[in-house]
Amino acid sequence: MKILVINCGSSSLKFQLIDSDSEAVICKGLCERIGIEGSQIVYTPTGKDKITKVEPMPDHNRAIELVIEALTNSENGVVSLDEIGAVGHRIVHGGEKFTKSVVIDDEVIKAIEDVSDLAPLHNPANLIGIRACQKVMPGVPMVAVFDTAFHQTMPQEAYLYGLPYSYYEKYGIRRYGFHGTSHSFVSKRAAEILGKNPADLKMIVCHLGNGASLSAVDGGKCVDTSMGLTPLEGLIMGTRTGDIDPSVVEFVMKKENSTVADVTNLLNKKSGVFGLSDNLSSDFRDLEAGYNEGHAGARRAVDAFVYRVVKYIGSYTAAMGGVDVICFTAGVGENSGFVRKLICDRLGFIGAKMDAEANKVRGEEKVISTADSKVTLLVVPTNEELAIARDTYALCK
Ligand code: ADP
Repeated sequence: MKILVINCGSSSLKFQLIDSDSEAVICKGLCERIGIEGSQIVYTPTGKDKITKVEPMPDHNRAIELVIEALTNSENGVVSLDEIGAVGHRIVHGGEKFTKSVVIDDEVIKAIEDVSDLAPLHNPANLIGIRACQKVMPGVPMVAVFDTAFHQTMPQEAYLYGLPYSYYEKYGIRRYGFHGTSHSFVSKRAAEILGKNPADLKMIVCHLGNGASLSAVDGGKCVDTSMGLTPLEGLIMGTRTGDIDPSVVEFVMKKENSTVADVTNLLNKKSGVFGLSDNLSSDFRDLEAGYNEGHAGARRAVDAFVYRVVKYIGSYTAAMGGVDVICFTAGVGENSGFVRKLICDRLGFIGAKMDAEANKVRGEEKVISTADSKVTLLVVPTNEELAIARDTYALCK
């Protein structure tokens, strides 16, 4: 079966067409600037050159039409419309309602709407993507795959904030966690690579990308993760603060005479390693170059980033009463031997030893610890689209 995987943002739409038998990507691409002037679709049928078409896209319906057109046109299309057997949608927030992927029906759409206040930028966009697909591909089954679902096994002691309990009961204020599709995929794959049963492993998955989060996975189940009510909590990220004292918000508002929206923007878009490096960059390739050239901001940012990751690894080791495997994934985790080394150099306290030669790896599955290391260090490239395609196939075949 050919599965179309859709990741719909407010003004963008990423897609991949995946063959569920071979798990090969047949085509992938992106619609950019939907609803904004200058919109375009960029896509690459596997094995062919990248194609860019500048086309007006007043809304997501038009974007989906263009995706279908790109996939099926007679010149460089890759399938016929009736070959697309199902669509998998990435949905950011499933609240407490969704603990696994589900086939989309009216009730599911309503439930995704009901938790939209928890992800006001993402869930409405995800819903627009679902509705646009329903319109353009009526009758094709669709599946919702939630970023939050994998983390629903967290115990109450890990997901509650120290707020009055009534705020959890009334408003659902708690820690949910994100990147769940990636944490789930990587932790399962790591067990496969090591030839072990997930039930026998205590794992920490470090998803280090532009957005970054850690999860503690004990016996195959998530028991803690670093993101919270929103993806702002936890690690220092590309442009997000991660953990801060909430009093910073009021303090900055008073000092700068700014609004809550201004400070929220500051915490999400201008902070993290970008802000710490004095706006040098949020990209770790630039930060690594700056670090090696002795750029003070780059050093400060990278050191703070690494420190926070190590601190979380320590706390998750304590939470699980030990750790067997630490996995690195996502843009930085898969590609930056530099960042991995800085992190692992500080993990001697749990008996982790990195193999410097093996750590030269980039974007490939590889054990990067020495034979005598007490903890297995592992690079596992994530593949959220494949994980979505697998769930979609499993529910629609
Ligand atoms: P997201 O999906 O959150 O946007 P990704 O997982 O794609 O993020 O990661 C993107 C980040 O990965 C980039 O901002 C960059 O910092 C980092 N990255 C990508 N390639 C490399 C590399 N070769 N070396 C260091 N960092 C890299």
